[in-house]
Amino acid sequence: MDCIFCNIVAGKIPNDIIYQDEEVIAFRDINPQSPVHLLVIPRKHFTSLVQITEREKPLMGHMVTVANQLAKDEGISETGYRLVINCGQQGGQLVPHLHLHVMGGRQLSGQLG
Ligand code: AMP
Repeated sequence: MDCIFCNIVAGKIPNDIIYQDEEVIAFRDINPQSPVHLLVIPRKHFTSLVQITEREKPLMGHMVTVANQLAKDEGISETGYRLVINCGQQGGQLVPHLHLHVMGGRQLSGQLG
């Protein structure tokens, strides 16, 4: 399957990876919606949250922990930030590879959608 984020994981698409370990990688969103807009993705392909089960509990916890650390590194821990996972068409998901948005650096709207 040709997945854009799998291609980033595989190094086939030039990308500024700002964090990586055995489980996840993180990079800046190509079309940032806030001054800080990062994506944390699992190396393994999951199409969406729908595929996540009990087995992925450690992975999901790790993604949030990495997001928190990156928020700290980017200097938005104190001012606040938002973690978002869009799931499926009506959830606003455009890229069918699970990803966690880390957004901050400006006042985000209280409205969700
Ligand atoms: P979503 O709507 O939750 O699926 O979000 C997908 C996000 O991926 C969007 O914010 C896009 O701007 C971002 N995106 C798509 N292609 C790339 C890419 N090659 N590098 C970085 N971010 C990307």
